[in-house]
Amino acid sequence: MARALEGKKGLVVGIANDKSIAWGCARAFHDAGAELAVTYLNEKAEAYVRPLAEQVKAPILLPLDVRDDKQLEALFKAIEKTWGKLDFLLHAIAFAPKEDLQGRVADCSRQGFLTAMDISCYSFIRLAHLAEPLMRDGGCLLTTTYYGGEKVVEHYGLMGPVKAALEGTVKYLAAEFGEKKIRVNAISPGPIATRAAGGIAHFDELLELAKQKSPEHELICTDCVGAYARFLASDEARLVTGSTAYVDAGFNIMAA
Ligand code: NAD
Repeated sequence: MARALEGKKGLVVGIANDKSIAWGCARAFHDAGAELAVTYLNEKAEAYVRPLAEQVKAPILLPLDVRDDKQLEALFKAIEKTWGKLDFLLHAIAFAPKEDLQGRVADCSRQGFLTAMDISCYSFIRLAHLAEPLMRDGGCLLTTTYYGGEKVVEHYGLMGPVKAALEGTVKYLAAEFGEKKIRVNAISPGPIATRAAGGIAHFDELLELAKQKSPEHELICTDCVGAYARFLASDEARLVTGSTAYVDAGFNIMAA
């Protein structure tokens, strides 16, 4: 797998700090020879993300709040100007307002639902739309989902329906982009203690359950997710599209 991404250009959206799933993926992409564009959410995040972007020698580092169309356009303009193409992108972001996330789905507000869907799901559609013209020789679009989009996971709440929509989106985009050899896949990691995970109530219990119930009795690390993402971004995965790939030590095959 060494240098499997030599010559490839990739966009990584979702690094908040060195615990982020996107960071584990960025490192794997870089180690395999890819050149990366990296984004950070805002000025506060930049302080954490800039040194990491420097570690992977990213020639493009730009702010991106996915709700901001101007920032999205500026990002893709910079990619076009610098590389003239894009081979893969990773979308590893999610957000839901805490009060909506930590209550019942039945009680969530319209605004909370729309915000969660916009940032965590629609943004993948938008990135795919902007990437399409830069993927003239085919490409790979990756997103990150969770088992709670497929089965009801206690305390996952509103993010469950949002991830279900994201997984559906992966299938529809894969079907639409297939002829252009643009592959679309989701990676579904087991629970990892990241900043976003901190917003989910009783997350420690989820970690404990994952360890107890998974056949391998191990917690997932961001490097494990990175290794799988690197494979999916490489030409070796050229016939893999529309899938949700579990990196969860086998948790998903176990009955409750
Ligand atoms: P993280 O906190 O490190 O990353 C979440 C990212 O989302 C941050 O970089 C944040 O800046 C970004 N983000 C939030 N709102 C944004 C916006 N408006 N515009 C642009 N970026 C925005 O946490 P993580 O766990 O690495 O999360 C990455 C992805 O992995 C998420 O989709 C999450 O649902 C998914 N995931 C996480 C786990 C887990 O247990 N940590 C498990 C399965 C899937």
